[in-house]
Amino acid sequence: MLAVVWGAAILLVVTIGKPELFRLKLAAVIVAIGVAHGLWKSAAQDKQERAENLAAHRRANSLCLKCGYDLTGNVSGTCPECGGKVG
Ligand SMILES: [Zn+2]
Repeated sequence: MLAVVWGAAILLVVTIGKPELFRLKLAAVIVAIGVAHGLWKSAAQDKQERAENLAAHRRANSLCLKCGYDLTGNVSGTCPECGGKVG
């Protein structure tokens, strides 16, 4: 986001003397890029958080981290459902 702000500042300084409509359109494009970047970053963080929550839930409930199969009482060290290692 900081890069977008710096990019906007530089572009607006570079275009000093250009028609106002051009500068306004440029500012609108820069704002749109900033908003799109913010939405993308937020979605990526949400995805990461969901993955961490799922892993924590599976660890707390003795479920396979890979497939979610219930591993209560498993002594083989291998998930019978997916073959993933237990622990
Ligand atoms: Zn599994």
